[in-house]
Amino acid sequence: MRLIALFLALFFSAHAKLTVAVSYPYIASLTETIGGENVRVETLAQGNWDPHFVVPKPSLITKVRNADLLITNGADLEIGWLPPLLNRAANSSLAQRGNTLELAKTVPLIDIPRDTSRAGGDVHAEGNPHFHLDPHNIPLLADAVAGFLGRKDPANAPLYQKNLAAFKQQWNTRLKQWDAQMAPFRGKEVVQYHPVFNYFLRAYGIRSVATIEPLAGIPPSTSHTMKLIRLIQERRPCCIMHDVYHPTKTGEFLREKTGIRLVVLPHDVGAQKGSDDLASLFDTLIQALK
Ligand SMILES: [Zn+2]
Repeated sequence: MRLIALFLALFFSAHAKLTVAVSYPYIASLTETIGGENVRVETLAQGNWDPHFVVPKPSLITKVRNADLLITNGADLEIGWLPPLLNRAANSSLAQRGNTLELAKTVPLIDIPRDTSRAGGDVHAEGNPHFHLDPHNIPLLADAVAGFLGRKDPANAPLYQKNLAAFKQQWNTRLKQWDAQMAPFRGKEVVQYHPVFNYFLRAYGIRSVATIEPLAGIPPSTSHTMKLIRLIQERRPCCIMHDVYHPTKTGEFLREKTGIRLVVLPHDVGAQKGSDDLASLFDTLIQALK
């Protein structure tokens, strides 16, 4: 009898969990931290994938189909892959108002294009969507996740708020350490492949003087690469901050021609070895830059 009671208790507690689908690993990290035992998180993209172009595999459709709630990055980062996935999953719960949280609505965006003609490139028509790479934005995102989970599961709202407070306390200690570690970088200049690190750079007073992509989402061209060689020779930026998912061929060519340092950096949790959670993502990023 006792075993049956235990089984039933486990069965019902397992089913009482909220299943939250999230688009990217950094959102999973936040949701697991705030939700604790009460949520089951299903992550769609992997950390070393290009976040703009995720292949909507059948396994991802299943994850979306079984979810009670959905948390997205937003600002068009998922525009190429999540809407078709949601269509195919046909999850009526996610179609209901209020069951989806778009994190882009909870932080101020930068790099908002002045016109909507997509003249600034093929992606980022809403502004730069890579806002989680400013570590100062993470507490705002954590607030949003805790508020969302609390609205959807009021019985456990106090627990989510408690987890949020503990997380923010730890995070604020880390923020002070990172701010101190990054202080010597103020005023430096860098080149990126894609403007993925713009929020991080802005947070620490670093200037991105060029991207290897001529425009966001457009692959490098010979004429643009030639311009970059001249610019690097003139301005001597400290390094190329390169993501893990674009080919490093042009970056290596620029290094060969100019001697510039090429640093491949994680943009999300799990993008590189050692970046297993949100705090170690920033640890890895900052260590690699030094
Ligand atoms: Zn982007």
